[in-house]
Amino acid sequence: MGDMEKEKDLEARYYQPVFTRDLKIVRGAGAKVWDAQGNEYIDCVAGIAVASTGHCHPAVVEAICRQARELIHCSNLYYVPHQAELARKLSLITGLGRVFLTNSGTEATEAAIKLARVRTGRKRFVAFTHGFHGRSTGALAVTHKPAIREPFEPLEPKCTFVDYGDLDSVRKAVTSDTAGVFVEPIQGEAGVIIPPVGFLAGVRECCDAAGALMIDDEVQAGMGRTGKWLAIQHEGVEPDIVTLAKGIASGFPVGALVAREGLDFKKGEHGSTFAGGPLACAASLATIGVIEKILPSVGPKGERFRRGLLDYNPRVRGLMVGITIGEACPEIQKRCAARGVLINCAADGNIRLVPPLVIGEDEIDAAIEVIHEALS
Ligand SMILES: *Cc1c(COP(=O)(O)O)cnc(C)c1O
Repeated sequence: MGDMEKEKDLEARYYQPVFTRDLKIVRGAGAKVWDAQGNEYIDCVAGIAVASTGHCHPAVVEAICRQARELIHCSNLYYVPHQAELARKLSLITGLGRVFLTNSGTEATEAAIKLARVRTGRKRFVAFTHGFHGRSTGALAVTHKPAIREPFEPLEPKCTFVDYGDLDSVRKAVTSDTAGVFVEPIQGEAGVIIPPVGFLAGVRECCDAAGALMIDDEVQAGMGRTGKWLAIQHEGVEPDIVTLAKGIASGFPVGALVAREGLDFKKGEHGSTFAGGPLACAASLATIGVIEKILPSVGPKGERFRRGLLDYNPRVRGLMVGITIGEACPEIQKRCAARGVLINCAADGNIRLVPPLVIGEDEIDAAIEVIHEALS
């Protein structure tokens, strides 16, 4: 029995059947990965916008190994190695105030729900159609997709969904009952949907008028993915809370909430056993060090994708690329994989390309050629 068949049988027998998959990735370096049969791929998925520094970047590997030999865990009962320094870095790159570290994007959403509720004294939220903020019951309550949310209702907090990009609806929905508005600066799971210019500034105005907090979910679009540390920085808008995760630590599970100066939890209002541990913080600091160096190259690499895919009306902001294909999306994904390029179908028949930020120009050109072939 081949390695793949064995894997399939084991998974079918022992793992909850929530995922659809047919490839086993066993190794990665830079923007390339290899499967169990030894086939090589250019990775335009990057673990869904996670492996931004590329797979197994030496600086990240070294930081994790060095810290693992010193101390793997110590609890937030004590000062944790690298934690305060990472918080300082995240505060600097977001231009906001204090940080709370988490183990995932979902947990960052949860922290934001709690902080918004406890500091505003309000209970309700506003979020957007096709938006995604996580899978725990609180995060799911502000996540739109009915197919993943409705089976679990009733959920808290109460949330009103309005059309992404429609400021008139935002104005009506955000009231003196609204604790916060969850908004992605670019919708990732929806398939890389870029809002109209001025939309994020408009959301900011609605929040100010109603005394609600603007919560900017940068879990997918943040950490340099669009060529700036935060995607919202392209619009010059300052949110009250930013949530981060995916690309923040090259694959080590880390998330973060960063709130503006003065918007803080009080002692005991939040906590975590694992979050902000020594390994997580070492991995994230090393990741930020790498991204600092490559950030200026992200915009031009995105332009290279745009030029190469112009025939398909791509939506591009840095290395976040979306193309609407329709029903054929899964078939295109398969064809690309067979030709050595990993791409991913996001919602509604959209191809999403979120490769490592270190991807080379030759790799971009090769990926574009394969995508062309698959689409023609
Ligand atoms: C992936 C994602 C989340 C959830 O992050 P997890 O780490 O999977 O919990 C939240 N918001 C956005 C925008 C995401 O893309």
